[in-house]
Amino acid sequence: MRELSKLVTGLRRSGIREIGDLAASMQDVIHLEIGEPLFSTPPHIIEAASEAARVGFTKYTPNAGLMSVRKVIAQRLNEDYHLKLTPENIVVTVGGIGAISSAVRALIDLGDEVLIPDPGWPNYEMTVKCAGAVPRRYQLDQLKGFVPSIEDLEKVVTPKTKVLIINSPSNPLGTVFPEAVMRDLVAFARRHDLYIISDEVYEKIIFEGTHASALSFDTDGRVVAVFSFSKTYAMTGWRIGYAVAAEPVAKEIAKLQEVYVSSAASVSQKAAEAAITGPQDCVEAMRKAYHENLKIACQVLDDLGINYHMPQGAFYMWIEVNCEDSMEFAKALLMEQKVAVAPGVTFGPSGKRHVRISLASPQEAIREGLSRLGLMLSKRV
Ligand code: PLP
Repeated sequence: MRELSKLVTGLRRSGIREIGDLAASMQDVIHLEIGEPLFSTPPHIIEAASEAARVGFTKYTPNAGLMSVRKVIAQRLNEDYHLKLTPENIVVTVGGIGAISSAVRALIDLGDEVLIPDPGWPNYEMTVKCAGAVPRRYQLDQLKGFVPSIEDLEKVVTPKTKVLIINSPSNPLGTVFPEAVMRDLVAFARRHDLYIISDEVYEKIIFEGTHASALSFDTDGRVVAVFSFSKTYAMTGWRIGYAVAAEPVAKEIAKLQEVYVSSAASVSQKAAEAAITGPQDCVEAMRKAYHENLKIACQVLDDLGINYHMPQGAFYMWIEVNCEDSMEFAKALLMEQKVAVAPGVTFGPSGKRHVRISLASPQEAIREGLSRLGLMLSKRV
């Protein structure tokens, strides 16, 4: 039998899934590894989708999504970020993942280089490789506040670089880039004639500072911004997000939807419309709950004397465990203490001494899970 695609068989799955799969085969595990809201989707959103299904709204939609949904998305972005978008700039996608993977494919050719953060969400590397492009890491340095530095980017950009991927609020660090950093990043991209894919799926989960969208600084259509309903409205399973781009780029992203998925699910699009046009207090309630969880986690870690980076947004904590191999550490923590965490190394080589926990977990799981992490660390010194 001939071999399967090397591009695909050569992909490494994320270490978060690896730990998750191991944990699923065990009993009584405390789960802090997965980045998924602990809330159910708000009832008015579920009701809108049910009603859509009941009245027969169960057919294909246009590749770029329903015009009514693209309209309300453009409106809300214009209000939030003072933009002048039209529905033609919006493509409704299968989650933020659908927007990122289609944007990468729409922008690169085989062998082009794409700059991705270290540490950064594992999916960037997989998506870039799967599209036949070459990922190059740029450093997010603790001494520079874990925001991208132009100096570091200049070190890794080459004539082959086509795209820069940025992520604020960031997973796993929780950094919220100041407006000036966003402006400089877009200017850097302009100088080197790069596109930017700006992953802003955690835009509404902010504890400190304000979210600046890369779209606000885009003067010549080189930014593709990615948003999602997954985290903002606790809708991970509905698989619905969107890409925002200049019209020619948006058209190619929509064309890719025709190839791979046709469109996002019709009922999920109706749910998304209700999410945007309905009351927003659910978003604030969830943000507050994650903030409370952050305070609890800080208290436990401070009491244990464990170092961590204070997140300004998203719902993760980047914790120093000072081991040589965070994958080995995460496996040992799971086996010995029954606590599942994401190994830092899965986010890039700089994460070999860190683990990431999700604050979107029940408070008791955070308290008990971190106490057991402390126990494990005390046994190792
Ligand atoms: N971007 C980041 C940084 C994420 O952490 C995630 C999910 O964990 C996504 C994008 C994609 O989420 P979804 O496809 O559910 O919208």
